[in-house]
Amino acid sequence: MDCTLAMIKPDAVAAGKASEIQQLAEMHGFLIIAKRQLQLTTRLAEDFYAEHKGKAFFNGLVEFMTSGPIVALVLSKAGAIRAWRELMGPTNVFDARLKAPKSLRALYGSDGTRNATHGSDYPQSAAREIKFYFPNLQLA
Ligand code: ATP
Ligand code: MG
Repeated sequence: MDCTLAMIKPDAVAAGKASEIQQLAEMHGFLIIAKRQLQLTTRLAEDFYAEHKGKAFFNGLVEFMTSGPIVALVLSKAGAIRAWRELMGPTNVFDARLKAPKSLRALYGSDGTRNATHGSDYPQSAAREIKFYFPNLQLA
């Protein structure tokens, strides 16, 4: 079965929405294979988002991602990567509210950076990100 790496970001965890988001994931047919709640350090957040280093929003993103605990999840479903990104909606919450009002980011995010959830974008990034949080997880 295909897997993706999801995060419930600090805004949604602080708002007490982590369980609700996991329930929605399960209602949409995702299986939660692994789960960890942790606080990212600056170094870990910079590593995780290394592809965005040098972009105008990078420092704000790292600051946001280290502002409180996150929940990292390995989700499994056929076509998991695409299906999870579809359920999350567009990156920008204002776009999400217009184009996908029932999406997770429309429902739980608050702006361009504080958008409640993360999902891997390609199989290679899913593999890297799953290893980042769950180095000992063996996926069949
Ligand atoms: P994620 O990787 O978190 O799932 P994404 O793949 O939809 O989101 P990316 O382009 O990878 O979007 O950006 C990573 C994160 O950086 C976004 O989720 C958002 O929190 C933040 N971000 C992206 N673009 C901007 C922007 N223009 N202004 C502010 N923050 C941004
Ligand atoms: Mg991304």
